Amino acid sequence: MNHRLNPARFIDTLKIFTAIVMICLPLQGCASAPNLWGEDRSPAGSLPAVFSTAPPTPTATFTPTNTSTPSPTFTPTFTPTITITPSATPISMGIKRVIIISYDGLRADAVEAAPMQNLKALMQNGAYSLTARTINYAVTLPAHASMLSGMCQSKHGVDWDVTTYYRGYSKGVDIFDLAHAAGLKTVMIVNKEKIRQIAEPETTDVYKLVYGSEPVIMNTAIEQIPAGFDLMFIHFGSGDNRGHKYGWMSNAQLQAFRDGDAALAQLLAALDQYGLRESTLIIVTADHGGHDRTHVGDRLYDLEIPWVAYNPGIRPAQLTNPISVMDTAATAAYALELPLQPEWDGIPVYGIFGLPDFSVHPEDFRICK
Ligand SMILES: [Zn+2]
Repeated sequence: MNHRLNPARFIDTLKIFTAIVMICLPLQGCASAPNLWGEDRSPAGSLPAVFSTAPPTPTATFTPTNTSTPSPTFTPTFTPTITITPSATPISMGIKRVIIISYDGLRADAVEAAPMQNLKALMQNGAYSLTARTINYAVTLPAHASMLSGMCQSKHGVDWDVTTYYRGYSKGVDIFDLAHAAGLKTVMIVNKEKIRQIAEPETTDVYKLVYGSEPVIMNTAIEQIPAGFDLMFIHFGSGDNRGHKYGWMSNAQLQAFRDGDAALAQLLAALDQYGLRESTLIIVTADHGGHDRTHVGDRLYDLEIPWVAYNPGIRPAQLTNPISVMDTAATAAYALELPLQPEWDGIPVYGIFGLPDFSVHPEDFRICK
């Protein structure tokens, strides 16, 4: 018997086989029937496996810039993904809430020149630095975005300084995203509308834009105390406004800082009234300094800002380690026992919690890439 394969017959068989495959696969009509390989590829009554689960839902993820190419344009619809793994175990000081106060345009040496006696008292009874730095682009909105997001400008993407809603909001996870996601109550009291673009409305439980003097702004903030809060940001704008109009360190500007300083006393009195001083961490800082009638440049007067942390439990100290405006968000997060975000450039100022500065900025931390 001849067992040799007939080439012509083999080719015909191959053509038939190929034709069947071409017909069956696109139609999926063969799926429930024994297939060419003699087995049922799909249980009767179910869809082919490739369709049996929903297609994966795209997930917005924050990608640190060291693993992606920074984009020159910024997407306003960015949805942050919050990392839930704490990077350090917070030390308990009984802190239950944080108030961040920004004196717009308060350069470091204005604290003494004004003088701001109440702030100086907080410095003497808390921890402070008068050599903290804002970001290189020492401008109100980008700098405040770094203050509250803990990130360099290249990451939060805010490169504008006027209200520009079509540009959206500061990118990434800021302290308001983090606190709100943890169920904490967040409050933002600001004197300039553009600061709205740092925190998405859904992450601020209370947002008040107050066009008024420092006492009026502070009264609005104090009104929130009885209802309770966990994170409050208060922004005073008069010092910056008068700096642009009359010059940095002018009498008019220093008067504005004194007014803001008096408002600080209002706040402390209110915290005392409600018995909250011991459980509240107050951080006072600024977005930038200034010189002449501007603050854009690379002068130390533009970049050097005060950074003050006060709580009765803080051991008084002058902080000697380099502090960035970006450390504000990180310190607030640490105090509130919220997870630090890996993409943040800011580092908690551990020294105020009585801890060694086991994590410090690199020497060139002021240069945001
Ligand atoms: Zn400013």
